[in-house]
Amino acid sequence: MIIKQYLLKISLCVLLLGCDSAKKEISKNENSKTEVDYFADNGFGNAVALVQHPSGVYHNGITYVAYQGPLEDPYVASYNHETKEWKGPFKAGISEMGKDPSRKKKIDNHGKPALLIDNAGYVHIAFGGHGGMRHHGENTLGNYSYGKNLHAVSKKPYDISEWETRDNVSLFGTYSQFIKMDNGDIYLFYRHGAHRSDWVYQKSMDNGVTFSEPVSFLKHKRRTNIEAEDSWYPWVSRGNADDIIVAFDYHICRDNVNAQDARGHIPERHNVYYMVFDTKNGQWKNVKNERLQMPLTKEMADEKTLVRSIPNDWTFQGITDVDPDGNPHVAVLVGPDINARRSGPKRLQHFRWDGQQWLKSNTANLPRGDGDLEVTSATEVSIYLENKTSNDVGEISRWDSFNGGESFQKSKVFLQRENSGFVISSLIDNPHPDARIIVAEKEEGTDFRKMYLLGDNGPIKRSKKEAQVLND
Ligand code: ZN
Repeated sequence: MIIKQYLLKISLCVLLLGCDSAKKEISKNENSKTEVDYFADNGFGNAVALVQHPSGVYHNGITYVAYQGPLEDPYVASYNHETKEWKGPFKAGISEMGKDPSRKKKIDNHGKPALLIDNAGYVHIAFGGHGGMRHHGENTLGNYSYGKNLHAVSKKPYDISEWETRDNVSLFGTYSQFIKMDNGDIYLFYRHGAHRSDWVYQKSMDNGVTFSEPVSFLKHKRRTNIEAEDSWYPWVSRGNADDIIVAFDYHICRDNVNAQDARGHIPERHNVYYMVFDTKNGQWKNVKNERLQMPLTKEMADEKTLVRSIPNDWTFQGITDVDPDGNPHVAVLVGPDINARRSGPKRLQHFRWDGQQWLKSNTANLPRGDGDLEVTSATEVSIYLENKTSNDVGEISRWDSFNGGESFQKSKVFLQRENSGFVISSLIDNPHPDARIIVAEKEEGTDFRKMYLLGDNGPIKRSKKEAQVLND
């Protein structure tokens, strides 16, 4: 009987040409047979990373995710946790990068999208920048590299199918990081150019229609004792109440011809720092509540904001979160100089402020790899980690500490794949437990990536037909 009805619907559909509901029913029947655990196969290059964030926001039953897709353009998809329906991915803008096959560096990767939902429900992304180029005009806050930072907004609230690009943020931006405060104010943080540039924010008080001029908070500066410039890598996030919290490390941006290091310019980064921006009064302070003069210089950073001096090993990607009392935890990847024999993926070091001092945790049993952290209380912290095991298995797992970092235990494996590895996003904002992090699977022989949305029940599944976007 059911088969009869089904066949009837097909023939009706053929007769009526374009009968949507019948078509949907047919594809539903096909789909139920072939579900996959990724939601899209058109991630491209390092499709997500910790730095450009958030890559995902949960709001009112739906998780919205953004990533870098074909030609380095930004893509946005959404998942409704109640109806279990996926939408997208939709191309949300066009990047100036990723279009020139003659470039030496094939995939730039700096312009992947950060995503935000404003208080009127419009979905925003910032994307496409790697410092801008000379032909874009004069960069008064730094130097140039590539791309053009852009801001795109959904045409309708909570609807990711149509977008418009707005020319209202500085095109010299890169490493975009979006934050919305409880009162709806939007902050877009980014580096205003290439390595030798200030880090700035632009603030919007009208749901991203207009933004203030860029305000510097980390200063790039010529060094006088060696042939280099001060440069920075911050990671910016919501603190408690009106606070924005920042973890950052220092890049010694050496000149290419260099007396101190024959290698010239290298991705050398050291130390880990922490500071707080009180958005209520616009003042910056250190962990001891001492006011900081902005933009922060290397000298003041060392004097007032240091979590840990790491002068010999190299650092990468600081991250931070606070406990309910406002005491911060900070983590950073640490490993030997790129030329050292032990060199390989770095291992996370974790520190927490106990009200008096920074305590270093014991992370010796954490596998080497990138991670984000979630602080529940002064003593409870979880680290979401990507790593590759010795037998070439890529893994995303969670490691918990219930004793303030004295020890960490592996509590969950979200995803495992043989002969592959993963790149991960920062944790999704305000996450549904089923959708905490976005990951892209690195596969041999292709620049395309399968994209996964992972939560406490593993990956959220999708019909193979819908997830295979590239074949469309
Ligand atoms: Zn540099």
